[in-house]
Amino acid sequence: MTLAGLFLEELEALVAEWGEPAYRGRQIFDWVHHQGVLDPSEMTNLPVSLRQRLEPMRSTEVRRLSSADGLTTKLLFRLHDGQEIEAVEMNTRTGRKTVCVSTQAGCAMGCVFCVTGQFGFARNLDAGEVVEQVLRFNSAERPVTNIVFMGMGEPLANYDQTLRAIRLMTHPRGMRLGARRITVSTSGVVPAMRRLAAEGLQVGLAVSLHSPHDQLRSDLMPINRRWPIAEVVGAADHYADVTGRRVSYEYTLMAGVNDSDELADDLAALLRGRLCHVNLIPLNPNEDVSLHAPSTDRALAFEARLRQAGISATIRVNRGRDIQAACGQLRLAEKKGRPLPLGEGRGEGRSSAVTAPSPALRATSPTGRGVAV
Ligand code: SAH
Ligand code: SF4
Repeated sequence: MTLAGLFLEELEALVAEWGEPAYRGRQIFDWVHHQGVLDPSEMTNLPVSLRQRLEPMRSTEVRRLSSADGLTTKLLFRLHDGQEIEAVEMNTRTGRKTVCVSTQAGCAMGCVFCVTGQFGFARNLDAGEVVEQVLRFNSAERPVTNIVFMGMGEPLANYDQTLRAIRLMTHPRGMRLGARRITVSTSGVVPAMRRLAAEGLQVGLAVSLHSPHDQLRSDLMPINRRWPIAEVVGAADHYADVTGRRVSYEYTLMAGVNDSDELADDLAALLRGRLCHVNLIPLNPNEDVSLHAPSTDRALAFEARLRQAGISATIRVNRGRDIQAACGQLRLAEKKGRPLPLGEGRGEGRSSAVTAPSPALRATSPTGRGVAV
């Protein structure tokens, strides 16, 4: 476990093993979670020998890119074993500062429209590696106000570390974030959604739906073959019942695939009467996936149709596109060895966990290569 993933009592036990008094553990916890100091050499009230013992537990920041408007910043980290992950900070002019965190290096789910999904799965992050992503954006002048678990990976497939990270972020001696300001996004890991409902936490739940039809959803998201729409929506209803919180459905709009009036109507029929909100996200295009975002008119028409049917819906604006910082859009440029504005690119092979696309999807590909490459 990396340093930022340890609770107070665990730090006390760790330093005790090294022959240090328990209060050293409290000092470390305060440095990390309250002061946001991750570099042990800056923990000036600790003995040098202790600082040195803590040193190898850190990840390093490889690159920091800001969007042209300065509101969005993407950070690339190298973890102690060489894995690389990204986190994104999104500011609004009203003072809200949302950090989008990754929970896994890669992802095993293989959604055909998702860049992370194309890489396959490398490993789970530990809670410290998740918390660090937030701490690196947190400052006394501009504190982080919201967290979304919408970066690389499926948070509910790394359940224990995700929960641990949430408990650390909300710790009364640490960043003290309100659980209501944290949103966990899932592709629909039904048993874990039900388990989350039982935690007694007030975290928000976002469910990636992308289609009201099982056939199409299975083509887009292989996980639907394991837990189909009825089970996913049932688990989301249960979450809303238990927590009293409105569930968000994420619906990534893909031109000619899931953006028709008919699908809007079927989506409205599926969600009618449920405590929920639909976030429509025009696809962030990338050259590896032969799918496209719909026109603005089409996206607006889809939204209007949902609203007319009484479903709460909004179109989410893609931000930070110029730095490939949109959620679910991470890591590609680096892994492809494409030159970046800052620093060097690295050429590295990639493996795809994606199965061959269905004929229905292949038909949407102008290149004839299919959706997944
Ligand atoms: N694995 C989780 C959380 C990370 S993905 C999940 O799937 O919910 C966060 C969101 O980004 C999901 O709703 C996902 O469907 C969406 N997403 C992934 N790739 C995208 C793309 N290229 N364009 C738009 N949204 C995308
Ligand atoms: Fe994984 Fe989410 Fe991407 Fe699907 S959309 S591959 S679940 S990160």
